[in-house]
Amino acid sequence: RPMALHERVDAVRAEHPDRPLVITDEITLRYRDVVDWSVRLADGLWALGVRPGDRVAMVMANHPEFVPLKVAISRAGAVAVPLNFLYRSAELGYVLRQSRCRVLVTMSGYRDLDHLAMLDEIAPGWRDGRSPSLPSLRAVVVLPTEPPAARPLDGVTTVAGLAELGDRYAGATTAVRVSGDDVGDILYTSGTTGTPKGVMVSHDATQRDAYASALTRGFADGRRILFSLPCYHMFGLVEGFLAALFVGGAIIPQPRFDPDAYLAGVERHRAEDVLCVPTMTVALLECPGREKYDLSSLQAILSGAAPAPAWLWERVRAELGVTEIVTGYGMTEFGGATTMSRPEDPLDVVASTVGRIKLAGAAGLGDGTGRLVEYKTVDPMSGADLPPGGEGELACRGPTVMRGYWDEPEETAAVLRDGWVRSGDLGRVRPDGNVVLTGRSGDLYKTGGELVMPKEVEELLTRQPGISQAHVVGVPDERWGEVGVAWIVPEPGAEVTAEEAVAACRRGLARFKVPRHVLLTSAAELPVTPTGKVRKFVLRERAARLVS
Ligand code: ATP
Ligand code: MG
Repeated sequence: RPMALHERVDAVRAEHPDRPLVITDEITLRYRDVVDWSVRLADGLWALGVRPGDRVAMVMANHPEFVPLKVAISRAGAVAVPLNFLYRSAELGYVLRQSRCRVLVTMSGYRDLDHLAMLDEIAPGWRDGRSPSLPSLRAVVVLPTEPPAARPLDGVTTVAGLAELGDRYAGATTAVRVSGDDVGDILYTSGTTGTPKGVMVSHDATQRDAYASALTRGFADGRRILFSLPCYHMFGLVEGFLAALFVGGAIIPQPRFDPDAYLAGVERHRAEDVLCVPTMTVALLECPGREKYDLSSLQAILSGAAPAPAWLWERVRAELGVTEIVTGYGMTEFGGATTMSRPEDPLDVVASTVGRIKLAGAAGLGDGTGRLVEYKTVDPMSGADLPPGGEGELACRGPTVMRGYWDEPEETAAVLRDGWVRSGDLGRVRPDGNVVLTGRSGDLYKTGGELVMPKEVEELLTRQPGISQAHVVGVPDERWGEVGVAWIVPEPGAEVTAEEAVAACRRGLARFKVPRHVLLTSAAELPVTPTGKVRKFVLRERAARLVS
């Protein structure tokens, strides 16, 4: 039976009340603690006016309070809207307005970010309980963090205060009925290809995805997972928190990535699994003094979100002693990662593909194969189905995919049809079932009737000495329809000219693929998302202005 998040947590608690669910250096929350705290916080949210279906935004790093708060939101029948804490005020204002959140839970200070000051800018008057520019927002709850915020905390409730408020309204949410098929989260996409979109996913979708990960990766009972990848993203939420839940396991959340803290955390809390993106894995390998840590508990690394070279995994195996190296691919709209390599796969499969569709056992598609979802490829221009194995835009259908984008019916209709979600990613499914990614469909362009795949040109350019990054976009052109523009970032200290870059393309590529213009830029000038992905649509606009 599909369960809401709090029902799932309650069920695990009934079996293992004293097992840890959240472990940090300062605090351990057992399953019973999370449930008790979440009941108080849910009643507190009710007292703040939260009713079933209302949105509650969470802007916080991986602090332990994230877990009881998330469970409390489910218990109150509300929809969690976990947001990127790296957003600046314009981005934060957009998503708070778009989601029409009733309550915002945030930190009182985090590094150089002051979310309350941002709120003063976005929604003047919020401290008095009403702001005309953000009329849905009724209350702000803060998590006091170190160092304390520069400004006074007037107009806010602390998390401890919220729990106490819940005690005064004890029982307020006991009658709330939530179904596992209800939308549990609105998760905003990274905003790589445009404005972030709020993806609505049910409680059941994210849980099935997590269950499939635990099954596919062969988790033993009580698995301990350490990660800094934030829970506002599917990666941390599903592969960290929810996957651990399915085996009565524990998470060791890190509020930010620090290689030393990762390794110390593995040793101290006997973590068996860490979640990384490739750049983090490199940082772990290069961490000075790595040898002094006892990493004997560590069995597995899950790497996702970006491709990683085979040599990296060879080093991980040899130097960290990790036997299971697993990669995956997914997107917010799929309800998380739907493909994953198998722990026993050879390293070349891990390095050159994003794995196969995850197993889901009896909870799977019902076609007898035990798969979580199904994949197909379509023509990126016409949307027509391609024969199996054909290279095109990947599409995914199954019980984990999104309900749609919150309050964006046109955007929803463009990507979700007959249950199939079009990914915007190009690739193919190999005969052995492993999926190969080849780029993003929105980045393709046509010049003189010929289709160009920017990734091919970018790979050639970055193989040239002195070129650190290359980003190719198509811009409108009267004669050719579109022409290619390559943005290149030279390596520090290297001298690279546009002429040399063009000459290299001429030597290695068919003529129509050679970019018409080459523009030099620097890493600092590249437009990137808060998570570090290059926003090509901005590069396209810039290029169009410069070369027209
Ligand atoms: P937006 O949809 O707002 O433009 P986004 O697509 O980057 O942003 P996410 O849903 O966070 O937002 O990211 C999903 C995308 O990340 C996928 O569509 C794919 O392009 C990329 N991706 C995911 N996993 C991998 C992987 N293993 N290797 C390469 N790219 C990946
Ligand atoms: Mg996307």
